[in-house]
Amino acid sequence: MELVSHQAMAWLHPMSRHEHPEREDRLALLLDHFGDVVPADPAERQQIERVHDSSYVELVASLEEERWLDADTLVGPTTWEAACLAAGCAIEAVRRGGFALVRPPGHHALPQRAMGFCIFGNVAVAARQGQRELGIQRVAIVDWDVHHGNGTEAIFRGDDSVLFVSIHEWPFYPGTGGPGSGDATTVNIPLSAGSEDDDYLRIFERVVEPAVRDFAPELLLVSAGFDAHVDDPLADMRVTADGFRAMATRCARMAPRVAAVLEGGYNLDTLPGLVEAALEGFESV
Ligand code: ZN
Repeated sequence: MELVSHQAMAWLHPMSRHEHPEREDRLALLLDHFGDVVPADPAERQQIERVHDSSYVELVASLEEERWLDADTLVGPTTWEAACLAAGCAIEAVRRGGFALVRPPGHHALPQRAMGFCIFGNVAVAARQGQRELGIQRVAIVDWDVHHGNGTEAIFRGDDSVLFVSIHEWPFYPGTGGPGSGDATTVNIPLSAGSEDDDYLRIFERVVEPAVRDFAPELLLVSAGFDAHVDDPLADMRVTADGFRAMATRCARMAPRVAAVLEGGYNLDTLPGLVEAALEGFESV
């Protein structure tokens, strides 16, 4: 599985001087660890505007100084470039069946605003572009980031061409995705704090795989966050590298075409090894 990324995301949209967990080092470490990656062009504005309101896109494009867009999301003059690159890498990953290593992450970004470290819905932009460019009709998104992918859910709610499946800690940030919040093409799987590899794999077997197989997607996109790891500082789950490897293997079996996009994962010591474990899983099929 090819890795798609761009060096500039390791310095644009700087957060480390604010001691923000979603910082440049996350990408710098991954690029150091993996070496060669396939570079991608930034997403075009019209590609982003397929999932976000143009007034919000304009706001991000025209930032001249730093400001907080919500309690957790700081943006500045280089955010636009970073966010367009992140979405562009996700698009390229769909073309190649690759894994996009990106920041800022995307799955909390709502149609009209930024949220929870996320600027643009990278996976959502890539799903739409895949439908448009590759003739793909049915896309499934499996989001195993520890947080509910409320932005992706909001973008595709009521769209019967996109199945959204999210497995997340609950109750927890952002507060959505609880019991009874699903519909025909939205499958929310809230898990209690402390859930382990076996809990996740049981959920894959009983809920995720049957839902995705019934939907019969031509493309499966994985919102691959690694903050459900046992040593992640932002959450309370107990998933290990073996768990991420096994989830990736299962995802790779579920559709003829599979791509992945990095979401969260905030322990700088473990992140490269966890991405590597997931890659092994995707490549094992
Ligand atoms: Zn997360």
